[in-house]
Amino acid sequence: MPENAEESFKCCRCGTMFGREGRYSARCPVCGHECTPDHCRVVVASNEEY
Ligand SMILES: [Zn+2]
Repeated sequence: MPENAEESFKCCRCGTMFGREGRYSARCPVCGHECTPDHCRVVVASNEEY
């Protein structure tokens, strides 16, 4: 596994992306939607390279 892959949820309601931080589900800070991998996309971003 890549060390610094960051997982983020992309909220299916408002489109906000926010850190998943290893949790199964997380509440969207903007609209309050409960994001789970079933409903919202999980985006893996590795922003190591420039
Ligand atoms: Zn949202």
